[in-house]
Amino acid sequence: MSRVIVIGGGAAGMMAAVAAAENGHKVLLLEKNEKLGKKLYITGKGRCNVTNACERDKFFENIVSNPKFLYSAFHAFDNMQLMEMIANAGCPLKVERGERVFPVSDHASDITAALQHLLKEKGVQIRFHTVVRDVTAAEGQVTGVRLADGSVLEADAVVTATGGLSYQTTGSTGDGYHMAQILGHTIKECVPALVPVEIEEEWCRSLQGLSLKNVTLTMICGKKQVYQGFGEMLFTHYGVSGPLVLSASSYYGRCKEKGNIWFTIDLKPALSVEQLDKRFLREFEENRNRQIKNVLGRLYPAKLVPVMLMVSGINGEQKVNEITKEQRQHLIEMTKRLSMRIKGLRGFDEAVITQGGVTVREINPSTMESKYVKGLYFAGEVLDLDALTGGFNLQIAWSTGFLAGMSIL
Ligand SMILES: Cc1cc2nc3c(=O)[nH]c(=O)nc-3n(C[C@H](O)[C@H](O)[C@H](O)COP(=O)(O)OP(=O)(O)OC[C@H]3O[C@@H](n4cnc5c(N)ncnc54)[C@H](O)[C@@H]3O)c2cc1C
Repeated sequence: MSRVIVIGGGAAGMMAAVAAAENGHKVLLLEKNEKLGKKLYITGKGRCNVTNACERDKFFENIVSNPKFLYSAFHAFDNMQLMEMIANAGCPLKVERGERVFPVSDHASDITAALQHLLKEKGVQIRFHTVVRDVTAAEGQVTGVRLADGSVLEADAVVTATGGLSYQTTGSTGDGYHMAQILGHTIKECVPALVPVEIEEEWCRSLQGLSLKNVTLTMICGKKQVYQGFGEMLFTHYGVSGPLVLSASSYYGRCKEKGNIWFTIDLKPALSVEQLDKRFLREFEENRNRQIKNVLGRLYPAKLVPVMLMVSGINGEQKVNEITKEQRQHLIEMTKRLSMRIKGLRGFDEAVITQGGVTVREINPSTMESKYVKGLYFAGEVLDLDALTGGFNLQIAWSTGFLAGMSIL
C-alpha cells in the first residue's frame, strides 16, 4: 500500500482519489476551497453535462488538442463506464440532444454528491482549506508536497489535478503549472478556449443581442480555413459569442497570422447562390415600388437590414426597381459571406477551458506518470488537453483521473 496525495478536488482529482483508493492505497485529497467540485457546480449552466454518450470515434473527433495521447486513458475508463459508475453511486443520468449526458435531477451538485459518496466509501481522507505550494522530490522520486504554510506532507505518489486558469474564483488558478515546471516539465503556452471573440468591425456592436440560428460560421486564417460549423451564434457589445463561436475559438491558437483571422457567416446555408437569387427576384418583383430597406426585413432579421445594406454599398432609400443586377448580386454575395475581422479572444474569466498546459510528450500516456519524476502523476485540465463542448472536457478529466489513480504502484 502506498501513501498517495491528490492535489485538487475537482473532477479529475476526485476520480483519481477514488481509483487510487479502490486500488488499495491510502489516499489523502487536498483541496484549497471549503468544498469539492466548485467548478463542477457551474458546469452545463448548473446542470453539469457530465459526459457525452457518443461512440469512441466521435469522442476523439471532438478532442481539439492531443487526441492520440488520450487513447489509453479512454480505453481504461470511457464514457459508458463513467455513466455506470455515477448512476451506481446514486445519481441517475439522462441523455439529451447531441448525446449530452446530464443528471436526471438537472442539478450539478448531484454529480459531486455521487463522487463524495464514492470517496467516503473507499475511505479517502479529505482536507479542505489546504493550499499546496509545490511537490517535493529527491533523486527523481516524489517525496510529498509542501503546503502554503510551509509544512510538508510525505507521500509515495502525488497526483496533480489542479485544473487550468479559467473562472479562477472556483480555485483553478494555474498552480499546477508552476509545480510541474519546478520539477522540470515544460508548459505549453496557456490561452483561453471555448471563449467569446472580439471583432474589429464597428457595425458588429449595432447587432448586440441578435441571435442567428441555422447559419454556417467559417474561421479563416490568412487563406486557410481552420474551422467550419453549422448552428447558432450571438452578437454582443464587443463582438460575437454562442455555441459556434466558442467552438471556433478553440482553433484560434493554431493561427499564426494573428492580424489576419476572419469569420465569415453564411446567413442562408440551405440555399445556393442561384436559389437565393430566385428568392430575391421573387421578393423584388412583388415589391417593385417600395424602398429596399423596407423589403429586406422579409429576408433578414430586422436588426441586420441596415448592416447588409451598408456592407453591400446600397442606399436603403433606393426603390427596389432601381436596384441593379450587380447590386443584387453583391447583396447575395454578402449574404453567403458576411465577413468580420477577429480582434482577439475574451479572457480566462469568460473561457470554459484553458488550452495548453503540461506538455503531454513528457507524460506516459499509459499511466499519466511523469517521464521525469517517478511517482508524479497528472490528470485533467492541467495537461495540454482540451475538447469542444458537449461533455468531452469532463470526460478528459474522468478518464485521465481514473488512469492516474489506478496506475499508482
Ligand atoms: C462555466 C463552465 C462550464 C463548463 N461546463 C462544462 C460542461 O457542462 N461539460 C464539460 O465537459 N465541461 C465543462 N466545463 C469544463 C470543465 O469544468 C473542466 O474541464 C473540468 O472541471 C476540469 O476538471 P479538473 O479536475 O481538471 O479541474 P478543476 O475542475 O478546475 O479542479 C481543480 C481543483 O484543484 C483545486 N486546486 C487548484 N490549485 C490548488 C492548490 N494549489 N492546492 C489545493 N487545491 C488546488 C481547485 O480549487 C479545484 O477544486 C465547464 C467549465 C466552465 C468554466
